Amino acid sequence: ISQPDRPQVREGDTPDLFSKFDDLIAMREGLLASGQEDPFNLVMEKVLSPTRAICNGRDTILLGTYNYMGMTFDPDVVAAGKQALADFGSGTTGSRVLNGTYQGHRECEDALREFYAMDHAMVFSTGYLANLGIISTIAGKGDYIVLDIDSHASIWDGCAMGKAEVVPFKHNDVEAMEKRLRRIPEGAGKLVVLEGVYSMLGDIAPLKEMVAIAKKHGAMVLVDEAHSMGFIGENGRGVVEQAGVIDDVDFIIGTFSKSVGTVGGFCVSNHPKFEIMRLVCRPYVFTASLPPSVVATAATSIRKLMHGGNKRAHLWENSRRLHGGLKDLGFQLGTDDPQSAIVAVIMPDLARGAAMWEALLKEGLYVNLARPPATPANMTLLRCSLCAEHSAEEVETILGMFERAGKAVGII
Ligand code: PMP
Repeated sequence: ISQPDRPQVREGDTPDLFSKFDDLIAMREGLLASGQEDPFNLVMEKVLSPTRAICNGRDTILLGTYNYMGMTFDPDVVAAGKQALADFGSGTTGSRVLNGTYQGHRECEDALREFYAMDHAMVFSTGYLANLGIISTIAGKGDYIVLDIDSHASIWDGCAMGKAEVVPFKHNDVEAMEKRLRRIPEGAGKLVVLEGVYSMLGDIAPLKEMVAIAKKHGAMVLVDEAHSMGFIGENGRGVVEQAGVIDDVDFIIGTFSKSVGTVGGFCVSNHPKFEIMRLVCRPYVFTASLPPSVVATAATSIRKLMHGGNKRAHLWENSRRLHGGLKDLGFQLGTDDPQSAIVAVIMPDLARGAAMWEALLKEGLYVNLARPPATPANMTLLRCSLCAEHSAEEVETILGMFERAGKAVGII
């Protein structure tokens, strides 16, 4: 069959579809050839607690997980998972809309509705799928999505899948956001997509101003609270709660893979027509539902997070101490003040970032090495994320490790 629109390729001349990755392959090989341990291939040989694991045979403090509230080894959470595994088996083998909704999925959605005090909750198999599904289903061809340029990949992918017009604005810039909204043609559907905490630098969005402006322009608002759920706000409902705008947003997206301590995603909403999403949202319909053990652990964890006030207070103490301590040591940080459980340390370049990452690992500390395209402005970051289970003494130990590694690598 002839394909006149395709460029003619001579026989024996077929392009290797992997050639587009050649630069990345070369960069990675260059880094590893220098003897650098691969920062993207670490194995946790044994996990001892939310804050400690054995890596390369050594007891390591974990400062690069999203286990903000330390729920992964909570005895009630673990017991609920074991019970559900015994009672309901290892998996549902089906979609939520067919055979994949068990009692546990319903209970998990009940726990979320109670946690957020909202009318509707829909559980997805991951947070990635929740953003992909809700954004692509709500905003389609002819609609406009106004979003922060530093949005998570799952948000961008949801925008692309829905084929709406995508209008990004400069990170956390309220005026730039309003300018974009003003330019949208009269009568078009509008969705503003924001995050509570931006996970690379650990900074929060000025939601009070942004939500008010979005509403003034008649846009619906979706806020991804992946990195704030359980921690930020009096009841852990996120930056929307802290900023006093929870009743003004149309959708909150979240994940079970961070503070909740397992895997899964969700959307909560008060929109009266929200339930129709269960029939029209393809990343909800066309994938298998979460295993019963996972929804049981999630529901138990969410209910415990409702009473996590003391843990939240301790996590704030940890965040303030680490941020202040690193700043005093002379490290350059992603924010001037601690805004979340993420403290990002800015590295001069990838080579020194990777060297510092390895030096810390040898000290017995694991942090995330983050690099473009995940990071804004081409930055290489050592991302530290704190846990409510880190003790005050552990935070002091961590600061000592940063001081020694930073001096050895020549960063401070
Ligand atoms: N949104 C944000 C802001 C995230 O950081 C992430 C994961 N890092 C997700 C969504 C996706 O969550 P999940 O891990 O549940 O797919």
